[in-house]
Amino acid sequence: MQIVLTESQLDILSKQAKEQSPNECCSLLFGKTKGSKVVVSEVFPAQNIEKSQVNFTISNDQLIQGYEDAEQKKLEVIGIFHSHPDSDAYPSSTDKKFMQINPVVWVIFSIKSNDFKAYLLDSQLIEIPIITEENS
Ligand SMILES: [Zn+2]
Repeated sequence: MQIVLTESQLDILSKQAKEQSPNECCSLLFGKTKGSKVVVSEVFPAQNIEKSQVNFTISNDQLIQGYEDAEQKKLEVIGIFHSHPDSDAYPSSTDKKFMQINPVVWVIFSIKSNDFKAYLLDSQLIEIPIITEENS
């Protein structure tokens, strides 16, 4: 598996992370799975209702809104994004718990190391490559 994001999507996500720092931020990623590629076509910014520096929670209302929005656009929620303001772009034990419940691609941006990483949790945690495309 690979995840494909455009440069402007990555920009939106890193900006969101920095704006909401020192708290974690979160977004839903809409798009489609094409073969072994998960292609992101839209970022749906969500709010971290926990306002925490080490955890995030998206409200049920926002989740429902996100899924409805994706469906209207004939897209799927294919990923969950969140930031790690002060730790590496690696899932915390809480993240792994929620990855089991939400088996989509998890994209993490570390402000500390200024990089994006993507993961899937199947029977074990695997890191998947992020392919960056020029803006179309
Ligand atoms: Zn996390």
